[in-house]
Amino acid sequence: MSLRLCILGSGSGGNAAVVRSPGTCLLIDAGLSLRALSSRLAARNLLMDDIDALLVTHTHVDHLRSSAITACLNHRIPMYNHAANEAIFARKYRRFHKLAERRLNATFDDAPLIMNDLTIRALRVPHDADGVTLALSIEHDDGEDCLRIAFATDLGRVPHALIDLFADSDVLVLEFNHDIDMLQNSSRTQYLKSRVNGASGHLSNAQAAAALRTLIARSTRPPLAVVPAHLSRECNTPRLVIDLVRGILHKQDAGDTHLILTSQDEPTEWIDIAAMHKRNLKGLV
Ligand SMILES: [Zn+2]
Ligand SMILES: [Zn+2]
Repeated sequence: MSLRLCILGSGSGGNAAVVRSPGTCLLIDAGLSLRALSSRLAARNLLMDDIDALLVTHTHVDHLRSSAITACLNHRIPMYNHAANEAIFARKYRRFHKLAERRLNATFDDAPLIMNDLTIRALRVPHDADGVTLALSIEHDDGEDCLRIAFATDLGRVPHALIDLFADSDVLVLEFNHDIDMLQNSSRTQYLKSRVNGASGHLSNAQAAAALRTLIARSTRPPLAVVPAHLSRECNTPRLVIDLVRGILHKQDAGDTHLILTSQDEPTEWIDIAAMHKRNLKGLV
């Protein structure tokens, strides 16, 4: 069993993550510059040519740069988009139609998507992008063990269906976007404050904390790792998020759960989910 995750960059300045199983190297979102994307992949011993597919969660530019379309064309990487976002991407990106011409565009709908040895379930979440915004549950089952990554980085509130989908996941990548007080006291316009804080904006620390508490309570075992993501530079601090998440893990008897913080500027280490799972099993014996 092998399943690893690396968040290459996270935040409104650009997002990308890699999931690597024995049969698939999946890039989730490509909102970093090509230079940053390539160098951060290289820092984790990957080349663009190693990527089997790109899956884009929604139509905001911090999740898909136009240069990523060029990279897909140059490296023959198929791009997977929800069918509801195809026309929007076609309008937004000049070279998007070339993907279809070269048979590099793949659409999916709300049904589970099987990609080699990964099963991806996408759930529509409230967010103010044109088209649909997706939270993802990515499952790798080798017949012996089944490991799941939950991934939700842009959402204004947490729907019940998200809790159902994410309960019992091994790794939770969850948006902790802003601290409400820091947002209200920031120099942002009232319009932007309302947008970020609205039901279709981004999750506050308090909203994400409530979701994390509910998820742990609803799960039969604590997650192996919690990965807070999409932190606002201006309206949040890593310290606030670390203290908040540690407090929740401690209170809910999940002290062994790893806390891995993401950054806008550098990739996380490889999060070796299979190895954590193995260690956890040994601990139970
Ligand atoms: Zn975003
Ligand atoms: Zn967004």
